[in-house]
Amino acid sequence: MKAPTQPAPLHDTVPASFFDRLQRLYDAMDRGYAQVADHYGFSCEGCKDNCCRTRFHHHTYLEYLFVLRGVATLDTEIQLQVQLRAAQICRSFDQADGLGLQVREMCPLNVDSRCILYSHRPMICRLHGIPHQLRKPGQNTLYGPGCSTFDKRCGNKPYYRFDRTPFYIGMARLENEFKQAVGLTGRIKMTIARIIAYSAEGREHETH
Ligand code: SF4
Repeated sequence: MKAPTQPAPLHDTVPASFFDRLQRLYDAMDRGYAQVADHYGFSCEGCKDNCCRTRFHHHTYLEYLFVLRGVATLDTEIQLQVQLRAAQICRSFDQADGLGLQVREMCPLNVDSRCILYSHRPMICRLHGIPHQLRKPGQNTLYGPGCSTFDKRCGNKPYYRFDRTPFYIGMARLENEFKQAVGLTGRIKMTIARIIAYSAEGREHETH
C-alpha cells in the first residue's frame, strides 16, 4: 500500500459545477452503454459471476469524492455497515496481497446483489461488460472483450462499435480542471472498499 501524500478535499467544499459535469458525463456513458447493450439484446439480469466482485481501481479524485458524497446520503446505520464491510474487505485484500494470492471480494456497496449507490457508481462500473474500443493518439485502436456473461449470452454476435474514448477524454479533462481548481496533483488508485474505509478512518487517499 502506498502512503497517501495529500489531504483529500472535503466533498462538501467541491464546487457543485464539477459534480454537475460529472453527472452529465455519467449520463452520456449510461446512454451509450444502453444503446449498445440494446443492440446486442444483452442484460446482466441473473448473472452469477457478479462484476461487483471484480477488484476495480478508481483513478480520479472527482469520482472518489462523488462516491463519498453518495455514501453520506445513506442511512447512518447502513453507512456503518458499509464501512465495516469495507474495512473487512481491505484487510482481506492486504492479507492476500501479502501472500501473493488473488482474492475476489464483493464491493461493499453491493447489498443483496444490488448496488445501493447505483446513481453514484464510478465510470468503470458503468462501462464494464460489453466489448469496446479505445483510440489513443499515435496507436492502433485497442479492442477490449465483454465480460464472461456477455460472451455466454451474446459472444456469437458481430462486434458493434462501443467507443470508450470520448468518455475517457471527458473524464480526464474534467479531472484535470478539477485538480487545478482545488490545487491537487497526482492520481489516486483505490478500490471502493479502500475509499470508504479510509474515509471512515479519517485517513487520506492513496496516490500513484
Ligand atoms: S459501486 Fe456499485 S456497481 Fe460498482 S462495483 Fe460497487 S456495487 Fe458494483
